[in-house]
Amino acid sequence: MTDNEPKVCSRCGSGIASDWPSPFEGWHAIQDLPDDPDDAGGVLRERFQFAVVEGDYVCSDCISPEEQRELAGRYIELLREALAQREAAGIDPDWSEGTLISYAQVLQERLDRLAGRDDG
Ligand SMILES: [Zn+2]
Repeated sequence: MTDNEPKVCSRCGSGIASDWPSPFEGWHAIQDLPDDPDDAGGVLRERFQFAVVEGDYVCSDCISPEEQRELAGRYIELLREALAQREAAGIDPDWSEGTLISYAQVLQERLDRLAGRDDG
């Protein structure tokens, strides 16, 4: 899997356009994102270019709610690790980091609300 390889969803076979914005571009108003998961229990409500599930590309139409939760959890974990590393290296946070952190908080909130749903 390389960046130059054409990306095709492994489930529906649709091509994944390479000219989509990266997942974090165009999110001008993170504070406007809904804090609730969707009705199916998915937490990645924003359209994304593609995800990699078990080594295969999956488009945002085909990813299951379970996979969304797993990816969201992994994203939050990776971000925490990256931030801890930067802090240890004495690198100041920059604005793009703020965006990533805000999105991680939105995802965490959705995961928490889902967990609350199961309890109730
Ligand atoms: Zn697909």
